[in-house]
Amino acid sequence: MAEVIGIDLGTTYSCVAWMNGETPVVIPNLEGNNTTPSVVSFTSGGQRLVGLPALRQAVTNPENTIYSVKRLIGKKFNSPEMEMIRKKLPYKLMEAPNGDILIKAGNEIYTPQEISAFILSYLKECAENYLGTKVEEAVITVPAYFNDHQRQATKDAAAICGLKVLRIINEPTAASLAYGFNTRKNGVVAIYDLGGGTFDITVLEIHEGIFHVLSTSGDTFLGGDDFDNRLISWLLEEFWREHHIDLSQDKFALQRIKEAVEKAKRELSFTPETEINLPFICSSDKGSLHIQKRINRSFLENLTHDLVERTLTICQQALNDAGLTTSRIDEVILVGGQTRMPLVRQMVADYFGRQPAARINPDEIVAMGAALQAKIIKGSVDDLVLLLDVTPFSLGIETENGGFQKIIERNTTIPARKTMAFTTVENNQRRVRIHVLQGESERAEMNKSLATFDLVGIDPAPAGVPQIDVTFEIDADGILRVSARDVGTGREQKIEIKPAAGLLPEELQEIIDRRKKEVKKTYDEEGLL
Ligand code: AMP
Repeated sequence: MAEVIGIDLGTTYSCVAWMNGETPVVIPNLEGNNTTPSVVSFTSGGQRLVGLPALRQAVTNPENTIYSVKRLIGKKFNSPEMEMIRKKLPYKLMEAPNGDILIKAGNEIYTPQEISAFILSYLKECAENYLGTKVEEAVITVPAYFNDHQRQATKDAAAICGLKVLRIINEPTAASLAYGFNTRKNGVVAIYDLGGGTFDITVLEIHEGIFHVLSTSGDTFLGGDDFDNRLISWLLEEFWREHHIDLSQDKFALQRIKEAVEKAKRELSFTPETEINLPFICSSDKGSLHIQKRINRSFLENLTHDLVERTLTICQQALNDAGLTTSRIDEVILVGGQTRMPLVRQMVADYFGRQPAARINPDEIVAMGAALQAKIIKGSVDDLVLLLDVTPFSLGIETENGGFQKIIERNTTIPARKTMAFTTVENNQRRVRIHVLQGESERAEMNKSLATFDLVGIDPAPAGVPQIDVTFEIDADGILRVSARDVGTGREQKIEIKPAAGLLPEELQEIIDRRKKEVKKTYDEEGLL
């Protein structure tokens, strides 16, 4: 029988788990490790590598080694966040005709969804290999603060590699599910999730198997990478001061620095002092130059203190939204690799006035929760477990003069559904345009455009007479659907949707077909077909 799995598709590392009876268990990858670097590399020989072998290529083949793709998924090429990170990536990004991002690697052009699909496909293969059976369905986690486009793009990535998504769930919620299922404790829990690229805080109440998210907040551009970047900037400045050479333009040197800095950061979580040692980092007219620096924990803490403070401001926002103070929190759960940093643990403990829960592996708990949710959806878990999650952003429409009318408020429990009546403003008007946005500002332009919906084929009538009920529905994956009904005729109203980002159904199908052909070609070449 085909098994179902849970996948934590992380910015830097991914993890896959399944339910062995009533116990969530992490599945090791083909190299035997519990987490897999979220890296895809294209070699000069035309090979595609995923995970650790791809990561090993990063220094020698930086232009064709794609990492942190989760930071790109569902984003616009010209968005302010992308302008910032584009400069730091050694691989090449391009703008798609609809303003989305494309990635150039190994003489081909890929969407971020395809790169994510290569990672998912590898994890699927690891699971099939380990379980000895086919895997066709999965629950995939995303940061709670992922917007509609990012969620849809993640679903598309799964479709490309032939995985059916049982549900998209939020990473912190998945973590709480694994924790609550395991401990059987009731109470209010704060999940503080600081991963490689994103930060999420979720406040939720667990009561007799019901997991009720009270609020969620976060920043999709705040994570371990930012801690690394502080050290990288410092090293580059030091090098400039000492040698008047700008290493930021040297892709190979930069990649070596990036790896060394991340390693040093990790070590400083366990040792008070470490050394960054990079011999022959570049050459000058005086010969080869090296980097050799001793750094201690408090130096790193001073460099990054404000990043942790930023996370605490977001925690306060989540508590305000839930109408709670820190004294009401019964347990704090730390998720994400960056929470291994002692400063993070200390500042979070000070803020909440309690030590975080012990015996939780921050790298694995999310995938375990996803595996549990997969089994729950399949109806194979005996206990009552009900997940009530929320939408992280308000959803609404543009009104006259560029205003924004919220229809579904942020932190509303999902699935959510709300209907609004629309009419025409001109006699015999045949179509009405609705611009749907996501965000909290009263000005439409400050929010994120999701799509425009054209209600077409309205029967001719005087202005203001037709009544068309438009229903906004956020499904359990946190993805919006819109439908419309002509109240007069009871007819389902036709809608033309123009998404502001993402793949159109026909584009997605084309990629799926292309990948299928590629798999077939490999099989043909290997004589397997
Ligand atoms: P995740 O997305 O949860 O896999 O988290 C990855 C992030 O955690 C990366 O930025 C890592 O550098 C960081 N990380 C992993 N282990 C440690 C550690 N021991 N100390 C500090 N940061 C770590």
